[in-house]
Amino acid sequence: MPEPALASRSHVRQLGARAHYERETIYPIIDAAPLCHVGFEIDGQPYVIPSLHARDRDAILLHGAPDSRLVRHLCAGHPVCVSFTLLDGWVLGRAACSHSMNYRSVVLFGAARPVTSPAQKLRALELLTEHMLPGRWQEVRPPSEEDLCQTAVVAIDIEEASAKVRTGPPVDSGADRTPDIWAGVVPLCMLAGTPVPAGSEQDDTPLSGAVRAYFERQDRANKVK
Ligand SMILES: Cc1cc2nc3c(=O)[nH]c(=O)nc-3n(C[C@H](O)[C@H](O)[C@H](O)COP(=O)(O)OP(=O)(O)OC[C@H]3O[C@@H](n4cnc5c(N)ncnc54)[C@H](O)[C@@H]3O)c2cc1C
Repeated sequence: MPEPALASRSHVRQLGARAHYERETIYPIIDAAPLCHVGFEIDGQPYVIPSLHARDRDAILLHGAPDSRLVRHLCAGHPVCVSFTLLDGWVLGRAACSHSMNYRSVVLFGAARPVTSPAQKLRALELLTEHMLPGRWQEVRPPSEEDLCQTAVVAIDIEEASAKVRTGPPVDSGADRTPDIWAGVVPLCMLAGTPVPAGSEQDDTPLSGAVRAYFERQDRANKVK
């Protein structure tokens, strides 16, 4: 994606050095974000609705009940703005106003279209399931024809997108850099807790391979940190 013109809706104005406009930065943030927020406007009223998402090449996939307002509005082809945020740390300066957050975020614009072919819906539902937990699709009952009828899938073709990334310590002014107040970064990450069985008679079912693999990846990532 080319760098947007200054007047463009995608051009980050404040702290432009933190902005990125290339797929190599934007797509990994979208793929790592557990959820997105979908912004749209109806009769002058803005709405921002959180949702599960998945990415399929240059499109974002969402799913939902066919009669939900979000799905109905998107299926009508209205423009939308979708944001994704990964919170990486509290940035604690010595002055109240030098507090900040380390983050990776994306804002994108696009138009939505319904995904209606059963094969494409199936593929979208696979991507959405795999976005939640890689490997899960192979472990579960695939959607039936009835499931497919009861689930709407929407694709948002990405027209333009920007990322903004903040890393590093707080930026205190020289006068504030005194040793009597602790300053620094408290790293934050999303950690999975102990899995809780569903509570059916099959409570002794061993933990699934996809869940075990998730914890192994989490352990490896924490060792690297
Ligand atoms: C977790 C988090 C916390 C933040 N906290 C604050 C805060 O407390 N105060 C504050 O002023 N700012 C905060 N920001 C930054 C904020 O998101 C905007 O970047 C900021 O308001 C400056 O916007 P602007 O005036 O440059 O651009 P705007 O005119 O608001 O936006 C222009 C365009 O730039 C792009 N853009 C703007 N911000 C982002 C972004 N974060 N990621 C990707 N694209 C973007 C969008 O396409 C947007 O349409 C935070 C960001 C994150 C991710």
